[in-house]
Amino acid sequence: MRADRVTVGNRRSRSCDVAIVGAGITGLSVAFHLLSRARREVMIFDRAGVAAEASGVQPGGVRQQWSTRVNCLLVRESLQTYHAIGDALSSTVRPVFQPCGYMFVAHSEGRLARLAADVEVQNEAGVPSQILTPDEAGDRVPDLRADTLLGAAWCAEDGYFDRPQSVVAAYGEAAERLGAVLEVVEVTRLAPASGRWRLTLSNGSSIEAHQVVLATGYDTTALLEPLGISLPIVKEPRYLFLSQPIRERLLEPLVVSGERSFAAKQLADGRVLASHTAADGDPATSAAAWRQAIRERIVEMLPRLQYVSFPILVDGYYDTTPDHQPIVGELLGGLWIAAGFSGHGFMLAPAIGRRVAAALDLDPIDALLSFFSPGRLKEPAAISERDWVV
Ligand SMILES: Cc1cc2nc3c(=O)[nH]c(=O)nc-3n(C[C@H](O)[C@H](O)[C@H](O)COP(=O)(O)OP(=O)(O)OC[C@H]3O[C@@H](n4cnc5c(N)ncnc54)[C@H](O)[C@@H]3O)c2cc1C
Repeated sequence: MRADRVTVGNRRSRSCDVAIVGAGITGLSVAFHLLSRARREVMIFDRAGVAAEASGVQPGGVRQQWSTRVNCLLVRESLQTYHAIGDALSSTVRPVFQPCGYMFVAHSEGRLARLAADVEVQNEAGVPSQILTPDEAGDRVPDLRADTLLGAAWCAEDGYFDRPQSVVAAYGEAAERLGAVLEVVEVTRLAPASGRWRLTLSNGSSIEAHQVVLATGYDTTALLEPLGISLPIVKEPRYLFLSQPIRERLLEPLVVSGERSFAAKQLADGRVLASHTAADGDPATSAAAWRQAIRERIVEMLPRLQYVSFPILVDGYYDTTPDHQPIVGELLGGLWIAAGFSGHGFMLAPAIGRRVAAALDLDPIDALLSFFSPGRLKEPAAISERDWVV
């Protein structure tokens, strides 16, 4: 179904029921779920196309090991969807979720106690995670230097997609099949217009919509500030180091050390991914030091990887909030936000998209979604997520 066109003065203007700004995984999931519920005119606007920002960089990690119950429950729900995402979206490409397991290691008693407390939260939410002894950790990760650990948290159901970008594309393909219209153009301004919202576009045209969803990542603040709305979403650079594809399987689970600011995993295409999660500064001058830090962690914990080199540096941005939780809800009548995913938006997208679509249809706000309401930012951080970085 195409949005209609009306003429305003001598400029062409158009209207639709719902305008979604941002064609990342969040905006596309909202569009798909909206159109799965009922026919309506949905338009998606992105200044650079599908998966142009974080959604096009993320390597497809999905974990249920969180320190807050809300994230455990939402990711657990998303994971159920992700297990059969090709069928759910009837996509031509069939992305496969590979449950390789995530291991969070502890080098100190304090970190082990923290991981144990998180495992309790996770188990109460139905997540089958557990604490492992160093030897048990060593059994799951070949050549892991178990003597450097006091223990680890482990969930065998956590894992990675083989082709993460095809998941994003599949949401876009499904939304368009159901009638969404995607336009590659920037939204430069939002303004109320007689009970609707007028979106000014960078090509000089405009469109009016009954409802607007801002799924615009770190740039959401730029559209809101002229409306007098200031939200604490910060653009935070993140870096991934990748090897060339390696035929041999060297590292199956994801291994994360929060204390060493380190994570590593071999992806489905054979590349080994490593990150120095505290990397900060200008890559042009600091990348060599970050590679060196990664090498030191590898020698300490995963010597099997010591001859792997990481020539490829991939960068992207987290849209980070103070409590490391997304901001999802209605800001003004008909104007919605779904942004600030703080590094875990890919794994939340199915559960969030479903809930935002229901809320746009005026269903009662789901109890889990209400945790992320913009209003919570005035309160002390009751749902602060502490294990948010990887
Ligand atoms: C290095 C890295 C690794 C990550 N790893 C994981 C992971 O393993 N698992 C996980 O769950 N998450 C991961 N994430 C986080 C995840 O990628 C994001 O949380 C998620 O992709 C956010 O999706 P989004 O659709 O909300 O935002 P984005 O993907 O950032 O999309 C926002 C879109 O809005 C568009 N836009 C912005 N302003 C405008 C405007 N004014 N007009 C038109 N268009 C506009 C942009 O072009 C962009 O396409 C990672 C992120 C990074 C950077």
